[in-house]
Amino acid sequence: MDRAIPAASAIPAQHQELEELRLENQSLRTKLENLLDLAHRNQNIMARHQSFDLKIIGANSFRELIAHIFSALSISSDLDMVTLLLLDQRADLQRMLGDLKIDVRDFPHLTFIKHESELQKPPQPFCDPEQKPLLGKFHPEFHRALFASCAIKPSSVAIIPLWRQGRLIGCLNLGSFQADRFQTSMATDFIQRLGSIIAICLENVINNEKLNYIGLTDPLTNVSNRRYVEQRTLEEITRAQRQKYSLACMYLDIDFFKKINDQYGHQGGDDVLREVAKRIKAELRLSDTLGRFGGEEFVVLLVNTDLQNARLVAERIRKSIADFPFLLGESGICKTSVSIGLSTVAPGNSSGDVTMIARDMLIRADQALYRAKKTGRNQVCYN
Ligand code: GH3
Ligand code: MG
Ligand code: MG
Repeated sequence: MDRAIPAASAIPAQHQELEELRLENQSLRTKLENLLDLAHRNQNIMARHQSFDLKIIGANSFRELIAHIFSALSISSDLDMVTLLLLDQRADLQRMLGDLKIDVRDFPHLTFIKHESELQKPPQPFCDPEQKPLLGKFHPEFHRALFASCAIKPSSVAIIPLWRQGRLIGCLNLGSFQADRFQTSMATDFIQRLGSIIAICLENVINNEKLNYIGLTDPLTNVSNRRYVEQRTLEEITRAQRQKYSLACMYLDIDFFKKINDQYGHQGGDDVLREVAKRIKAELRLSDTLGRFGGEEFVVLLVNTDLQNARLVAERIRKSIADFPFLLGESGICKTSVSIGLSTVAPGNSSGDVTMIARDMLIRADQALYRAKKTGRNQVCYN
């Protein structure tokens, strides 16, 4: 039978159709590959962000959270710099972190500011009233302060206000060397979500630190309590042994404190306790530890301090208490003094059980204090 033979003119038309189909197919395949590639990249980005979220949600301490924000966020979001400003109106947070021996100097990109107004300087407030992040070019005039810790300034920035329950707690600042990375016209939902998570995590770890702080703080004088000092002593002895420096221990007791209570009442006595703690603390370094051991007794650990220097510090403390009268809230003015017992643990001199070394150091300081009391009070003795 005759086979249908296409007319000669139909062959190029069919070829053309096939060619068009092939091209369309190729274009679709490229599109699909691009979409798959995009989906894959988005999946990677999502996975990185998820892993960042999990990291910061899991952070238990202030130090851990801040370290994650600075290291993990730069990586997960491919940023050239990240800085964080925290609002700390009365410097309470910084004081608490200092007391907990969390050295904020470990985080150069973390800054504390006192007033919200520092974030809302006209003409361009860093944090807009609708609590939204501000994205755009880096303006030296507006943004320099936010990126003060960065040697090279970014080209574009995202300034994310951190709000908790209608209160501004700080702002997170992201910087990129790419000028078009953050643009005014960009959607900010994702960045806003990041700000919300970080604000919640910050509030959470700060509350945790507060709880920790309260449990280790003497409520009357606000210095550490006995539990904290005992815990700290073991850590400090271990460190002093490892780093081969001496550690000094000071046992202080207010002289004739009972008389102060008798004369000025319990309230007056409490005022003296608070002021004595303040004067002792004023003579110490951030790395030293001061605790109220109970009643009118205090203990100080002086790190990396030999006997000669410990004597100088003890003498300064003694004079700062004995030489200046105490202004009591309602009960007038009084004078008082302290007796101080000193002991030291020299580097290398003491190997062995840390608990034993701690106990021995404290007993020797207490014995020296006893001698200071017995031989006249208002003086420093060493054992
Ligand atoms: P000494 O010079 O020998 O140390 O004499 P002292 O009177 O200081 O010592 P004593 O141990 O006899 O008295 C300590 C007093 O401290 C007795 C106690 O009522 C009082 N005290 C203990 N805790 C507190 C406190 O939290 N507030 C006040 N106001 N007094 C306290
Ligand atoms: Mg006493
Ligand atoms: Mg006393």
